[in-house]
Amino acid sequence: MPRMIAFFKDEGIRALGIGCFGPLDLDEQSPTYGSITATPKLAWRNYPIRSAFMEALGVPVGIDTDVNAAALAESRLGAARGLESCVYVTIGTGIGGGVIVNGKPVHGLTHPEMGHQLMRPEPGEPMPDGVCPYHKGCLEGLAAGPSLTRRWGKPGKELPPDHKAWVLEAGYLAQLCHNAIMTLSPKKIILGGGVMGQTFLLDMIRARTVELLGGYLTSPVLEDGLKGYIVAPGLGTDSGIMGSWLLAVEAVK
Ligand code: ZN
Repeated sequence: MPRMIAFFKDEGIRALGIGCFGPLDLDEQSPTYGSITATPKLAWRNYPIRSAFMEALGVPVGIDTDVNAAALAESRLGAARGLESCVYVTIGTGIGGGVIVNGKPVHGLTHPEMGHQLMRPEPGEPMPDGVCPYHKGCLEGLAAGPSLTRRWGKPGKELPPDHKAWVLEAGYLAQLCHNAIMTLSPKKIILGGGVMGQTFLLDMIRARTVELLGGYLTSPVLEDGLKGYIVAPGLGTDSGIMGSWLLAVEAVK
């Protein structure tokens, strides 16, 4: 924190936007609004990150989850530009999803935690309970980077494209897309993060999602095999930082 504050202190900034790992308290009526809550990163637990920056810098501070920030940027400036809804999911050392509806990030009871939705084990799954310490068989526990390492004994980037690992990986991410379509009906699904650096995955996920949908939905976007619907981030790896900038702009307003 001292290093981050020092970085911004003399820049003359008018506002700060934070796209923060969660979980966060995003209830504006709450006395702990803008605090990190039950994170397994113990030193950050219950840390009031928004008010700490406000006090140190004396400027308005906007905050949302890192993935809601990225989703916001993709909806305003990236792959979902011009659409009122989208889902952005990052698949890396963890899995998180942000949801935009009517142009705004979804908050509710807390905020979406799409990485912890429960999965149906894929055929041939040797580790159906996954590695999440909180849930058996959730998406993050089965499909984030650490699960690949645990299941196959080496990290994803060392597994060749024809390895069975990717069939399972695409299967879980297709379940995610299926669930997002059925529960949120977004206009676009954007998949980013380090694991999606394996660019061959995107076509595998699209094909498996079409299978899972089972012909149940009809929409023009399904006719091209979801090529224009399940997509890579339009802003590349900058979605998060651009989203944080948008949060700062909102904070000024
Ligand atoms: Zn979990």
